[in-house]
Amino acid sequence: MLAQIGQEHYQKLHEILRLCRLNLKNYDESLIQRAFFMCYRAHEGEKRASGEPFFFHPVEVAKLLVTELPLDGVSVAAALLHDVIEDSGYTYEDISAELGAEVADIVEGLTKISEIMVNRETTEAEGFRKMLLSMVKDIRVILIKFCDRLHNMRTLDALPEHRRLRMALETRDIYAPLAHRFGLGKMRVDLENLSLKYIDPEMYEYLLKRVRLSRNERIAYLNKMIVPIKTDLEKQGFTVEVQGRAKHLYSIYNKMRLKNKEFEDIHDLYGIRVVIDTEKISDCFAVYGYITQQYPPIPQHFKDYISIPKHNGYQSLHSAIIGPQGYVIELQIRTRRMHEFAELGVAAHWRYKEKISKDDAAVDSFLKWARELIKDADSAAAFMEGFKLNLYHDEIYVFTPKGDMKILPAGATPIDFAYAIHTEIGNGCIGAKVNGKIVRLNAELKSGDRLEVITSKNQKPKADWLKIVVTHRAKLKIRAAINEERRLQIEKGRGMWDKMLSGTKKLFTANDAIRSVRKAGIRTPADLFSALANQQISSEEVIESVTNPKKSAETQDKSATPATTTQDFAEIARQVQERPFEQKDEVVIAGLSNIAYAYAKCCNPVPGDDIIGFVTTEGSVKIHRKNCLNVTNENLVKSERIVSVAWNRKLETDFLAGIRIVGEDKIGITNQITGVISKFDTNIRSISLSAKDGIFIGTLMVFVKNTAKLTTLMDKLKKVQGVFTVERMSS
Ligand code: MN
Repeated sequence: MLAQIGQEHYQKLHEILRLCRLNLKNYDESLIQRAFFMCYRAHEGEKRASGEPFFFHPVEVAKLLVTELPLDGVSVAAALLHDVIEDSGYTYEDISAELGAEVADIVEGLTKISEIMVNRETTEAEGFRKMLLSMVKDIRVILIKFCDRLHNMRTLDALPEHRRLRMALETRDIYAPLAHRFGLGKMRVDLENLSLKYIDPEMYEYLLKRVRLSRNERIAYLNKMIVPIKTDLEKQGFTVEVQGRAKHLYSIYNKMRLKNKEFEDIHDLYGIRVVIDTEKISDCFAVYGYITQQYPPIPQHFKDYISIPKHNGYQSLHSAIIGPQGYVIELQIRTRRMHEFAELGVAAHWRYKEKISKDDAAVDSFLKWARELIKDADSAAAFMEGFKLNLYHDEIYVFTPKGDMKILPAGATPIDFAYAIHTEIGNGCIGAKVNGKIVRLNAELKSGDRLEVITSKNQKPKADWLKIVVTHRAKLKIRAAINEERRLQIEKGRGMWDKMLSGTKKLFTANDAIRSVRKAGIRTPADLFSALANQQISSEEVIESVTNPKKSAETQDKSATPATTTQDFAEIARQVQERPFEQKDEVVIAGLSNIAYAYAKCCNPVPGDDIIGFVTTEGSVKIHRKNCLNVTNENLVKSERIVSVAWNRKLETDFLAGIRIVGEDKIGITNQITGVISKFDTNIRSISLSAKDGIFIGTLMVFVKNTAKLTTLMDKLKKVQGVFTVERMSS
């Protein structure tokens, strides 16, 4: 065997075995050797996009696994063979014969995941449902998959742009959240940072520079606290490790984007973590006590994830303290074991047990989540939504009048709570008492709230609720109720229609009626029946319009909705789309000539924005900003249809951009805002303002030449007194 493999390649086996000795407890060295040789033979002659031998990749994945998520020898063997079935002539049986069924099963699971990802015919949702199914069989499948993805992300530069972006988006939207769900804190951070590097390279570089610039300062500052804290705690008899830490790039990025903040405005960049070598939970609270005697705590920031762990199993004490010069410093306190679980999540269980069976209670709690998700969703779309919704949220703890605790995602409303108790209670919910006080249905719940839901028999779920609720369960149930309601309406309307026709000579069909009534929202027979049932239109009107089309057209005009001052974004966007574009040379679409294109109305790209195109089913290209929230969805549905797009350099056209302003609702503020815009020499396409509870929200559609101009304008708007935030609109 040695003779067939070059010395430098053989060296790789030694590297793997050396790492195994360092990191694994019990493993079969010959199993790993046999897997290595099979891997080498299977990929012989194959090359990666970078030009190096393909088998370097499985070797690196195996090494990552041993160092990042040390599980067991079987996993290392499976990692080495993860691409074998897919890429070579080897079968499940071959692997099973040489290395046993356990390895072969895991490799098969990994192969299924790749097939799902590559197969363009399966929708994203079906694909991920299958992916979850295969990992429910053996959790090692997904853990190896994470290492595979991590290595692919680290070597992404070798791929062409559209594939880089596709993989980066998939990593951000699927793998990083999944890693988080399984408690793999370190893996999540690595995957998120790498995805940011390719999704928004400019911002990534900028943040990297900023964080590096302040690094020495930060270390010096934190050391002023770390050293005395450590000495102090050791004097008290604790064995501790005190670490300084910085927020990771992706979370800084997210905070800046979601809260529309500048880098300078992010104050919780730094933190201190105390890891105690103890098995006693009470030590964590004692340490908290000692530290806060020296540094005053900020009580609102205190979170006890030890008594109530996060749903991914994360445990730690969180707080914020005031450090020297008054800076706010995040503080985390945990035991060594909690720390390992925070970094390694479900993979940490292997540290404490020789062998993990799939019936293991701890591992099972992770799998239970996946099983429920698979079981709960009745449609592919609902499944995907649940998958995304269930991943990232912070949690709150609220209580029923009897004191039962419900865990809900942050941002949950009384409706979410009602559905969490029972579907009937959710459907009939008209209000709620929070801590004894009546609140609105869209009130945001807080940890510790005690809730009493008020229901009514006459209540029915409303479509508006879908915008208020945050839990997957509530969305699912509301949609089901609305669909059922509509189904009943259509049935009723169909009855009315039949009855109506029985009085005529049945000279027209439902489609004739739809054509002649020409009423907004009535496009299908079902629409018509439902409009009849809820009295949006009467039988007389229908008959009248079919038999006497001219007259009915007049009444239509009169009944048209009056113009309102407030236009919503969707409406504006619709009009914008109708505006004819002179768009011949605005962008360069890679590899395609003379192709029709349009700008996505969800994000309205402007020259200067990083953009990307999607080939639509009609064959034209829709251009989005790369950071548009909708890119995610479109990308995953039609992942092979991404094309790279660049702005043409000499552009003098005006582009439409949406700006959202939130501020204090005070007299004169709109004049100030419009004043700023008119001085700026920009055309306003539309402006809409709505005010509620002392806050106004304005949406502006303006014409600008590029992002530089837009940024200047937004900076000016930010300076208007009473304005809180100014942000670019996207979907
Ligand atoms: Mn691979």
